[in-house]
Amino acid sequence: MFKSSPIETIRFENHSFYLKRDDLLHPDFSGNKARKFYYFLENDFPDISKIISYGSAQSNAMYSLSVLAKMRGWEFEYFVDHVADYLRDNPHGNYKAALENGMQIHVGRGVLSSTKNVLYIEEGGRQKEAEYGIRLLAQEIIDWQKENNIKELNIFLPSGTGTTALFLQKAFVGERTPRPTVYTCPCVGDSEYLKKQFLELEEDEKYHPTILSLEKKHHFGKLYRENYKIWLKLQQQTGVVFDLLYDPLGWRTLLAHPEVLTKPILYIHQGGVLGNESMLPRYERKYKM
Ligand SMILES: *Cc1c(COP(=O)(O)O)cnc(C)c1O
Repeated sequence: MFKSSPIETIRFENHSFYLKRDDLLHPDFSGNKARKFYYFLENDFPDISKIISYGSAQSNAMYSLSVLAKMRGWEFEYFVDHVADYLRDNPHGNYKAALENGMQIHVGRGVLSSTKNVLYIEEGGRQKEAEYGIRLLAQEIIDWQKENNIKELNIFLPSGTGTTALFLQKAFVGERTPRPTVYTCPCVGDSEYLKKQFLELEEDEKYHPTILSLEKKHHFGKLYRENYKIWLKLQQQTGVVFDLLYDPLGWRTLLAHPEVLTKPILYIHQGGVLGNESMLPRYERKYKM
């Protein structure tokens, strides 16, 4: 259903990077969520008539599920702990787009009275079925390596639930050597949390990506001057717009580990740019001179 996403070469901070543009994968899906939910687009679910999920009111997964539901003609119910007054009064970003796709939002915990006809999706799409679409991502990378005769490769992508990084590394394990090494960093919680997430999806650690982190603790969704700075720099030097939640931490972490840059490196742009509609005004209010 999707055409494979392009791979470009960019220069940033005097290093050369390959950039996998998964943000361009589909106009209506948010980057890696298109990969994670691909299974539900491609297969038949004659008994399903509704998706139920939960998470934050601005999440990329929420928006992508609203797209999936719309494409498949399913209802979509989404549970949140809280919707900020400002967002409720001024819908924007993922929240607005998901509502326009027909999402029914509920504050509080849902009670699943019946699971019949319901497709239940974990927060952030953290589930086994994600492996299906992420294998295709791996295959696109393998084909590109062959075409361009790129033997050794490091791959970097920032993690939330870690689902994408895990299944990507796992997809390469069967490949002949040298197989790519997948590096990632935790954006939600710390390295231990991310390791736990990996273990829940895959017990065998030989399939796990390599976790890199920064020394300072980082809180998901909070504003950091360093994040805004590198986001602006990325745009100035590469012309590419990245997301403001994951990518700034991803790039900061990657640049702090020069040993990973000794081989050709592929950074995966996982989309999420629609979410910038809520993050950017917050950054501009706080730091713009
Ligand atoms: C969801 C998301 C991630 C995190 O993906 P996981 O599979 O949960 O690790 C990273 N970047 C963007 C832009 C996302 O939307």
